[in-house]
Amino acid sequence: MRVVVIGAGIGGLTLAQALRGAGIDVVVHERDARAEATAGYQLHLDDTACAILRRHLPPASFQALLASSPSHAAHRWFFFADHRMRVLAKKEIPLDQEMLLVGRVGLRVLLARGLDDAIRWGSEYVRHETHPDGTVTAHFADGTEDHGDLLVAADGSTSRVTAALAGRPTSAPIGIGGIAGRTPLTPAIRERLPDVLAGGSVLGVGPGGIGTFLTLFDVEAGAALDPGLGADSPAVTESSAVYWGVNVPLDRLPDARKSGPDAAVHAAVALLKGWSPVMRDVVAAADRATVGTFRYHACDPGAHLTPWASGVVTGLGDAVHAMPPTGGRAAATAIRDADLLAEHLAGAVKGRTTIPVAVHEYERGLTAYAGEAVRVSMQPIVWQRRLAHPALSLLTRLATPLAAALHR
Ligand SMILES: Cc1cc2nc3c(=O)[nH]c(=O)nc-3n(C[C@H](O)[C@H](O)[C@H](O)COP(=O)(O)OP(=O)(O)OC[C@H]3O[C@@H](n4cnc5c(N)ncnc54)[C@H](O)[C@@H]3O)c2cc1C
Repeated sequence: MRVVVIGAGIGGLTLAQALRGAGIDVVVHERDARAEATAGYQLHLDDTACAILRRHLPPASFQALLASSPSHAAHRWFFFADHRMRVLAKKEIPLDQEMLLVGRVGLRVLLARGLDDAIRWGSEYVRHETHPDGTVTAHFADGTEDHGDLLVAADGSTSRVTAALAGRPTSAPIGIGGIAGRTPLTPAIRERLPDVLAGGSVLGVGPGGIGTFLTLFDVEAGAALDPGLGADSPAVTESSAVYWGVNVPLDRLPDARKSGPDAAVHAAVALLKGWSPVMRDVVAAADRATVGTFRYHACDPGAHLTPWASGVVTGLGDAVHAMPPTGGRAAATAIRDADLLAEHLAGAVKGRTTIPVAVHEYERGLTAYAGEAVRVSMQPIVWQRRLAHPALSLLTRLATPLAAALHR
């Protein structure tokens, strides 16, 4: 069996690692020039995703992943706060459950390790066709083509592959986007940070339909595993920083590529008028090289997620069930898909089933968890939209101090 994967993102690379482990021939086509040539901040990997990566990554790569992530003790909580950073609610991630927060670039670099001969960097998918003998051919922007027994769309939320399969895009813009960046943890910034950040990430919602995300990566708090170990497969370490995001309705979202990162930072600070001054100061001090703007997509979690007849083309991750980053679920769900698909394909390679039946079982299986992950990720967005209403904005300003006092 030969599997052609489109997209060397988090899901596509996990699938490649899992298939290789099962002895299945795999090739990944990625439009980026190399693993590091991408953007992104922190990705949250839950207990299930960590267990999958432990099984499928070479042991030295999994060790490097642990050494690239802060210790769980520094991220035990998810806090929900109002615009003044008053905690309204919190959710604990029990210490007996594994949890990793890892930079998107670092995770991609680690997942790509050992797959040098399987990844075609700079290879952009444009179309595909299936053949009566059950094989499939993918065509690329440089005029080349590749053939396989299965084509897997792992090309993210604006997937061309699943759009071709479904006859329409599988997700749509949700009307909200984000300005995000990284602020170096200088002594001045460290001194001003609210105490809650030492215990976990803070998701904020405030008046006017603005939402925020803050998380601290503090080298002094220690990594999950000693980053000094593992010379063969070193950790991808980052310097201490506050990662932040400001989610806004699209009509107020600047375009950092057009107006530049400085203008994006100024726009974010202006949008945070009335918010905690710490939040504004953190954003204002961002490292401009890390600032970007993003438009979020989501699928309809209540709809059929794979609206095509199962066959020799399928998809995983955001290509099938896009969701905004507000639930911290997208990467973990893409990893879970990759594991499930690899498991069914391993059955097909052993002759226990056919590839189309394996794909059918996989597509049925992902409905058990993917729609729910999208719903959870949309919850903060739903609140954000509600709070965009002027009457609710006023109510928020009046009611959240009371809610915060009750929480205390
Ligand atoms: C640049 C970028 C930054 C992101 N930053 C964050 C973040 O900070 N926080 C967060 O929670 N989530 C972020 N995400 C989304 C997050 O990575 C995904 O939601 C999650 O990891 C699901 O993974 P996936 O494999 O389905 O898709 P992705 O990880 O998005 O991977 C899709 C891959 O497909 C490639 N691709 C797309 N079209 C083609 C094509 N035609 N031909 C070949 N290759 C193609 C893309 O270059 C990309 O590498 C980001 C995504 C991207 C692309």
